[in-house]
Amino acid sequence: MNPLRPAILAAAASPRMKRVLTGTKVTADIVRRFVPGESRAELAPVVRALLDSGRLISVDYLGENTTDRARAEATVAEYLSLINELAAADMAVGSDGAAVPVEVSVKLSALGQALPGDGPAIATDNLRVVCTKAAEAGVWVTVDAEDHTTTDATLATVRELRPEFPWLGAVLQSYLHRTLDDCAEFAGPGSRIRLCKGAYREPATVAYQRNVEVTDSYLRCLETLMRGTGYPMVATHDPALVLAAERMVAETGRGTGTFEHQMLYGVRDAEQLRLAAAGHAMRVYVPYGDDWYGYLTRRLAERPANLRFFLRALVGR
Ligand code: FAD
Repeated sequence: MNPLRPAILAAAASPRMKRVLTGTKVTADIVRRFVPGESRAELAPVVRALLDSGRLISVDYLGENTTDRARAEATVAEYLSLINELAAADMAVGSDGAAVPVEVSVKLSALGQALPGDGPAIATDNLRVVCTKAAEAGVWVTVDAEDHTTTDATLATVRELRPEFPWLGAVLQSYLHRTLDDCAEFAGPGSRIRLCKGAYREPATVAYQRNVEVTDSYLRCLETLMRGTGYPMVATHDPALVLAAERMVAETGRGTGTFEHQMLYGVRDAEQLRLAAAGHAMRVYVPYGDDWYGYLTRRLAERPANLRFFLRALVGR
């Protein structure tokens, strides 16, 4: 984890920084590296190429922290159209026992979780609509993890909907102190858990701050998931953790169809291809849409090499 990450994420939250960053040509170039398109039309050829290369995909319609009910409903409508298009293009052909090639990833804060009053219930109802369409189309759904203040509500939604949609996945973040317990809860039959390190700015009261602690926690959490009977999704680009996952697979006697690797679009492409060629299920998280600011700043904050660009914007270029 980049030690400057908390400072970058704090700076990125300022409206001035957002104005500066969204108006530059440099930003447009960096956005394209991580976000292949703003529309479904721009997304389609990228998705096709990834699937043709032997990789699986998880498509995320960008957006978060909606405080407008109409916006949350528009996001649901976009997911329904997305799932229709993925299915119509014959991209969503599942097969027995193996990983379903097409998944969508959803942030509950984009579906209304942050709305005043009954936000979590609205988000749950909206997710049910998305899952119903996904079930018809043979597409999986995984609920992204956001900042720690949402974790209880998000996992409550997943618990509520899993009896109806047993393949509904959730994301857990190894930087949170609580996550080993959450992994133990979600390591049971059929449970799909995407384990990542975590991308938000979190206080020391709830999250490990040092790299080594986050990595050690990841190893403990992954071990719990691998020794369980669910379907672990190993979401990391960290070479040591990718290797550790392979060691745990061998130790636990898991077959190839019982877990998958996941990485972000635009990050370690050659490693993605290597894992897919080695016969692993390798899923790429592909975001699209015009609300890319939050996603982009999290990617910049993870990566020291992108800092020069960021700091230039910070001092007003
Ligand atoms: P790091 O130690 O950060 O990175 C290891 C190596 O990977 C780096 O040395 C570098 O070579 C490469 N790398 C990593 N990030 C970048 C980058 N941005 N640009 C270029 N190279 C990079 N986080 C959440 O909080 N909630 C989620 O729902 C969530 N979903 C995710 C889904 C997927 C499929 C993945 C892969 C990640 C997701 N994340 C999510 C982000 C995650 O929490 C980390 O912030 C991110 O993956 C970086 O951590 P890392 O494990 O790759 O290790």
